[in-house]
Amino acid sequence: MIMNVINSNGKLVIISGPSGAGKSTVVDLLLKNCTLPLKLSVSATTRPPREHEEDGVAYHFLDEQAFLLLRDQDDLLECMDVFSSGFWYGTLRETVTSGLNQGLWVVLEIDIQGAFSVLDSIPDATTIFIHAGSIEELERRLTNRGTDTAESIARRLQVARDEMSLSEQYMHQIINSDPMQAMSDICSILEKVGG
Ligand code: 5GP
Repeated sequence: MIMNVINSNGKLVIISGPSGAGKSTVVDLLLKNCTLPLKLSVSATTRPPREHEEDGVAYHFLDEQAFLLLRDQDDLLECMDVFSSGFWYGTLRETVTSGLNQGLWVVLEIDIQGAFSVLDSIPDATTIFIHAGSIEELERRLTNRGTDTAESIARRLQVARDEMSLSEQYMHQIINSDPMQAMSDICSILEKVGG
């Protein structure tokens, strides 16, 4: 797939990690505190919004028909049925292309399969994997979050085991025991990439 990138001063940053590792918190802190020109790519999903999740901010919440239309029109850079949950998640091609064309650092917070798929078209992306520390810690965080059913937690933990075994393929590994520290570590990594 050819990306419609005219001026590529922009950079792509892919952040993955198991559900419950605290990616969203770290990414939020990064956007607020890191002085690089970061832009979060808001994904589309067919998952229903959680309480406090705003449409267009957390995700673009779509029904399946609207999502599949985007996919069929080739408007998604990648898309996955993450966790085989029956819910789709996808990266909007236009968000990435326009960000890169504006010279921004576009941040994708996506699962590992989506990351590998994006790397096929943009191989020079910086890849960062955020760990929770251990499976037990992940289970504790997912349970305390209180947003997932027992079945969803079990599925997320199984996917986490598989993802952790592939995490070495990421350029950088971060353990998130303290979100501010994790944010600061990622910001330093990106500053070095920027030279
Ligand atoms: P959640 O349902 O907890 O918001 O997200 C579930 C998983 O989907 C997370 O691992 C998240 O990184 C991943 N995800 C979010 N957006 C996308 C996307 O656009 N593409 C892919 N492949 N994964 C995504």
